[in-house]
This record gives sequence, structure tokens and C-alpha cells, in this order.
Amino acid sequence: MSRPVIDRAVVASKNPDKIAELETLLARHGLVREVVRGLEWPDVVEDAPTLAGNALLKARQVARSTGLPSIADDTGLEVDALGGAPGVHTARYSGPDATYQSNVDALLQALRGVEDRTARFRTVVVAILEDGTEVVAEGELIGQITRSRRGSAGFGYDPVFGVGGRTLAEMGPQEKDRVSHRARAIQALADALATHRA
Ligand code: IMP
Repeated sequence: MSRPVIDRAVVASKNPDKIAELETLLARHGLVREVVRGLEWPDVVEDAPTLAGNALLKARQVARSTGLPSIADDTGLEVDALGGAPGVHTARYSGPDATYQSNVDALLQALRGVEDRTARFRTVVVAILEDGTEVVAEGELIGQITRSRRGSAGFGYDPVFGVGGRTLAEMGPQEKDRVSHRARAIQALADALATHRA
């Protein structure tokens, strides 16, 4: 594998599920030699109107606080029958004290009796490099919101996001990492960084 693009970087998230997926994907592409763990930074208020805006807020705050390059992701679920909601509000869909469970309950409730279950996950990733350059990339996955939960792997909305007849929670981590919105975003980031380095 060629030399990593980034020597040391911090993954700008406090969500262990997301960190695990990002670390696996970054390692697969050899993008970061060492992911630095255990650092602290103030909570980031994610109040930008777009996924890219929120990913930039997180990446900038963490780079500023730690003095290291950073990688952030912001993900939204866009449901056609809900006019693209919850979108940028995906994390707090069921309210300020939302949990994975309450969010999925709220989504299933909103789609009760709705035939068109088409939805997409969109992930925007931002990398801030040693020289301060900001690189933005995006990935998406189209699927269907199922009528009930299926599967126990993954996190968030995975138990109700169906792709090709199975939910992401039925796939398990390796298969999810082959097809997911996050995997596609990191692939796009790798492509953008290859251009940046060339
Ligand atoms: P954020 O990117 O941390 O703001 O996450 C937005 C919301 O989407 C949270 O409720 C996450 O649990 C959920 N989420 C993010 N990524 C995934 C995923 O890969 N599968 C299922 N849910 C996700």
C-alpha cells in the first residue's frame, strides 16, 4: 500500500459506532497512518443548515482544539414520502433527548400506511489536512424503510433501512462497509486526496 496521505489524525466524533466504522474504512484505504484516540474537545453545536456545514463545524473545531488533522462525518436520512426529512435533523428526529430507539419508533410511526418507502442515507466527510486544506466528499445509499425492525448489527436506523431485501442491521459490519453511504463517502475522499497529492 502506498504512503498514507495523513500521518496522524483525530476522528471528530464522540459516537463510538461511527468512530468504529470510520476507522475501519480509513484503514482500508490507507488514508491515515495513526488515528489518535483519547483526546478531548468541547461539544460542537451542529446548527448548520446542511450536512456539509455540520461536518465542517466538527472537523474545524476538533482540528483547532487538538492541533491535529481531523476527519468528520455528518450523515442524514432523507425519506421521499417525508419530503426529504429528517435530513439534517436525523440525529434528533424524535426530539432533544432522542435515542436510536425513539428515532426509529418515530420514523416507523410517520410512515404508517405509506406505500412509498424510498429513502437515502447521505454522508458528507470532511478531512482537514496538516496544511489546513479542507477536503469534502460525499456518499449516498438508496434503500427502503422497512415496516418493522430487522437485524441486530449496526446502529441508528440500520434495523429499518433495507437494501436488496435485507436491512443494514441484517448484513453485519463487513457487508455494510462494502455498500454503505459512509464507505462511498470515504472512497470519494480517497479519490479526492489522491488528486490533492498528485
Ligand atoms: P450524525 O451524523 O452523527 O449527526 O448522525 C445522524 C443520525 O443518523 C444519528 O441518529 C445516527 O444514529 C444516524 N446514523 C448515522 N450514520 C448511520 C448509519 O450508518 N446507519 C444508521 N444510522 C446512522
